[in-house]
Amino acid sequence: MSRTAVTAAGRSEARGRSRRAAVVVGAIGLLSAAAVVLPNVATAGTTLGASAAESGRYFGTAVAANKLSDSTYVGILNREFDMVTAENEMKMDATEPNQNQFSFGNGDRIVNHARNQGKRVRGHALAWHSQQPGWMQNMSGTALRNAMLNHVTQVATYYKGKIYAWDVVNEAYADGSSGGRRDSNLQRTGNDWIEAAFRAARAADPNAKLCYNDYNTDNWSHAKTQGVYRMVQDFKSRGVPIDCVGFQAHFNSGNPVPSNYHTTLQNFADLGVDVQITELDIEGSGSTQAQQYQGVVQACLAVTRCTGITVWGIRDSDSWRSSGTPLLFDGSGNKKAAYTSVLNALNAGSTAPPSTTTTTTPPNTSDCRAGYVGLTYDDGPNGSTTTQLLNALRSAGLRATFFNQGNRVQQNPGLAKAQRDAGMWVGNHSWSHPHMTQLSQSQMASEISQTQQAIQSATGEAPKLFRPPYGETNSTLKSVEAQYGLTEVLWSVDSQDWNNASTAQIVQAASTLQNGGVILMHDGYQTTINAIPQIAANLASRGLCAGMISTSTGQAVAPNDNPPTTGPTTTTTTTSQQPGGSCTATYRTTQQWGDRFNGEVTVRAGASAITSWTATVTVTSPQKVSATWNGTPSWDSSGNVMTMKPNGNGNLAAGASTTFGFTVMTNGQWAAPTVSCRTP
Ligand SMILES: [Zn+2]
Repeated sequence: MSRTAVTAAGRSEARGRSRRAAVVVGAIGLLSAAAVVLPNVATAGTTLGASAAESGRYFGTAVAANKLSDSTYVGILNREFDMVTAENEMKMDATEPNQNQFSFGNGDRIVNHARNQGKRVRGHALAWHSQQPGWMQNMSGTALRNAMLNHVTQVATYYKGKIYAWDVVNEAYADGSSGGRRDSNLQRTGNDWIEAAFRAARAADPNAKLCYNDYNTDNWSHAKTQGVYRMVQDFKSRGVPIDCVGFQAHFNSGNPVPSNYHTTLQNFADLGVDVQITELDIEGSGSTQAQQYQGVVQACLAVTRCTGITVWGIRDSDSWRSSGTPLLFDGSGNKKAAYTSVLNALNAGSTAPPSTTTTTTPPNTSDCRAGYVGLTYDDGPNGSTTTQLLNALRSAGLRATFFNQGNRVQQNPGLAKAQRDAGMWVGNHSWSHPHMTQLSQSQMASEISQTQQAIQSATGEAPKLFRPPYGETNSTLKSVEAQYGLTEVLWSVDSQDWNNASTAQIVQAASTLQNGGVILMHDGYQTTINAIPQIAANLASRGLCAGMISTSTGQAVAPNDNPPTTGPTTTTTTTSQQPGGSCTATYRTTQQWGDRFNGEVTVRAGASAITSWTATVTVTSPQKVSATWNGTPSWDSSGNVMTMKPNGNGNLAAGASTTFGFTVMTNGQWAAPTVSCRTP
């Protein structure tokens, strides 16, 4: 309890200071108007996590390790939430109690529980003026700066690959009217301590989103909000690696949800960062509390880059300020009015058509304000590397252009098809990789035309781009390219991966790419594959996106298509001639992001009505289903086979259909699930 007392004391000034209680009702009205509300709630999720997942968002909670033995607590956690934050167990005093002596036991309990349940984890927090271990509180100057950076590096490295987003720095801005930094031992090491922490975190775990997190930054007109905004703006302009801003959102009657909350979230998002509500709790009860919760959810849903909401605890009795009953479940674990209003708001908002916006602009990639670059991989496909290369690109949310050799496509047509199915573009790189300028015109034509045919046959589409081997070209070759409708593509940056460049050197080369630029890489080197996560992080930090190569200019431009869905778009299994009638189950991928996709199964009755149905969804390990909606799931012991039964009765008239949905965390495996159904 002493830890939560520390936290509470730190915020008491904030709660007492606000004089804005009078605007609560007006605030809700405005937020309602700003939210997207669409009709159909027939596919509504029945849990917070599932309902948020339908629009690509998460709904999380803070978790305390010592409560993981409480079955009521764990039951609600497992059922309702798909994101987890350690309440205290990953803070500085918990993870480094003695200098350079790290302790991850309680943090691991929470992280392992979450991941075993297919939930993601927000890391909280790497650097903070509060809850420092005793040895750090007494340090200053260079020694403290180095100790802080070592802490960031060690903890982020330990949890590398397991964290969706880190609160890298927590609560560094002062309350009051200054809009400046909070005085602290860390601040006194120099004003650049925050960006130094972000750079250390990026180097330690390039795939985690890096957030700045603070409280009392909800109201756009507050000086503190403006101060944080200017810092994020400055970081983005100078390439400091920041991906997200966390709004703690601790509210009560003296500090209510502000009328301009949506404006605040949108303005930050417009800087090119994700926004997340990270520690939501609202003191109160009944419909007043429920309305305020609804307003916060609507404000998030109205902002495309508001990627999720976390409440700071499960039951009121679990709260750091339990006397204010600020959470969604009462002390016995019953759903409160606030729970229902949050669920309804998520379901109302989640029927917005997110497929076009979120497929082309996944919430976990950068905006593309600085433009597009072309990632290219030559000389494949390659039986030992192409699949791994495609998985790495997919995991990083990147698309690339593959310049294939015709003879290798002929040997591995399935890999050329896999390139295209993974959302990549496929170009022609000659049949046998000769020095083209030393060939006769007819030999040039043969190299190009055979490759066009092999790729057309493997992928269903003839290339429109040609890259001459070694970048060697002349006017004769250009005239042959023109005969086949091909645009010649060279490069602006050579990664030197073919010349034994290290992964770090390849990443460095990619960091010089500018808008429109194209980088030369190859399908065949492990160093090249290993560079992908860091290339993705670097591009995102600079506001650049991976684009396609224009057939008119040979330069990188925005893609003009959506990436195809994972694997086959639909798979169907029919079960027929059963006493209960027949049914058909059809699967399709509805949305995908860098780390997960949403799937939908349509169950349709055959020629006669059915009174019930059972569908089976099988995912491929290490995939995990993290959320479901519009059905009641159960699992086999492997966790890979989900049996879905209808919510309520399963009556379907002849030919009628119903759908259910789910989110699959890929963990690097992008295969589409297989589905089947039976009656009953
Ligand atoms: Zn080549």
